[in-house]
Amino acid sequence: MSQAPFSDSWWNEIEGFAPAESQHIQNRHLIEQLNYLAERSDFYKQKFAEKDIDISKVRTVEHLADLPFTEKQELRDSLTAHPPLGAHVAAGHADIVQIQASSGTTGSPSYVGLTRSDIDTWSELGARALYANGFRPGDRLLHGFGMSKGFVGGIPVVQILQYMGIVDIPIGAEAGADRLLRVQADQRPNALIGTPNFLIHLAEQAPKIVGQQAHDLGVRAISVGGEPGGGLPAVRERLESLWGATSREMLGGTDIACTYWGECEANDGMHFLSPDLMVAELIDPDTGALIAPTAGARGELVYTALKRQASPLLRFRTRDHVVVTGTDCSCGRTGYKVRCVGRTDDMLIVRGINLFPSAIKQLVVEMRPQTTGEMVIRADFEGHSTQRPLPLVVEHAGGMSTEGQADLKSTIEDRVRSALNVKTIVELVPDGTLKKPDHIKVALVERVVG
Ligand SMILES: [Zn+2]
Repeated sequence: MSQAPFSDSWWNEIEGFAPAESQHIQNRHLIEQLNYLAERSDFYKQKFAEKDIDISKVRTVEHLADLPFTEKQELRDSLTAHPPLGAHVAAGHADIVQIQASSGTTGSPSYVGLTRSDIDTWSELGARALYANGFRPGDRLLHGFGMSKGFVGGIPVVQILQYMGIVDIPIGAEAGADRLLRVQADQRPNALIGTPNFLIHLAEQAPKIVGQQAHDLGVRAISVGGEPGGGLPAVRERLESLWGATSREMLGGTDIACTYWGECEANDGMHFLSPDLMVAELIDPDTGALIAPTAGARGELVYTALKRQASPLLRFRTRDHVVVTGTDCSCGRTGYKVRCVGRTDDMLIVRGINLFPSAIKQLVVEMRPQTTGEMVIRADFEGHSTQRPLPLVVEHAGGMSTEGQADLKSTIEDRVRSALNVKTIVELVPDGTLKKPDHIKVALVERVVG
């Protein structure tokens, strides 16, 4: 079933509603969802009883702050104790038509069930994000995310695109650059989706594999996600010049839906787009206190699903850290905008300074063409904290002299220290040393102990 966009500006009219109006709808849907949880979810029934919570007192989104968080570990425990979908499942098995697996980097996968109605909700959430990214009904798209392993970048993205009236050509990242580029050259779809680093890699391979520059292959709009970096100006400019297309970022996560934050043509962060379908709170990751989403605010995203049937979650801690880049926009959307700075799980503490590896990546990308933009942190310590300088391996451009390399090494160390307040010891390696053949999702940290 495909839907039509509300206007040329956005997919759904609610994206442009005044905040008071969207809050009114959000509050109404929140009360309905809480009643649904209290009636259908054994996990939340027990949680409300243990903590002596009277949900009839929660009338607005502000009251959510009185309710406990849901932690990822609780969901893992619930899945282990009550297979296949945990005690938090809230729909009958006969109504569940699809199961997705989370792409978590640690531990075993998490599983999420969907009813037919949930698929529509995920599709509506995703349509708003991908429309903001520049995709339009009638487009045809090359699918550069992984299609397998139950990853939300696979089938759920196909479902969103079909809902929007867009043709998906589901080749998938695992098919490799050769296959994807040949399909692109044959079919010339005008839209492209994938992780930013993989799509850069694809474009770089185009002359060798299909004998044409990527910008001659007919792509008009690119949407990137699945790893941080797509919103960095240096990465966006690289993608746009290689492909001759617009490139915008989106963000989501399996536990709540597929994708639901989308960057618009202002290129200044991803909008919150769906107050009717979810709540996104910002908290201090250390104290759990709410943070107002004003420009410049930083915090961890906490989600509450509205209108979810099979695997609804209340105040789920994502461990995604964002910075708010704005609260109004030339595009007319009224939801605040964020940039993802990293995940708690990825954060390192170097001599007491919090550091997201993606911040170093940004600096290394900005130092093209002296670097290739490729880097890896060689973590020579257990856990996340170290008192020693951070070992950083960076690829230098081809044909660089020994003196040039010595200069580059000290330039990188100085830039990282002045921008991030972290001391590094840089080792330069030749072009092509770090780049992996599959290059679908890039690890910025390599563990060399443990
Ligand atoms: Zn905007």
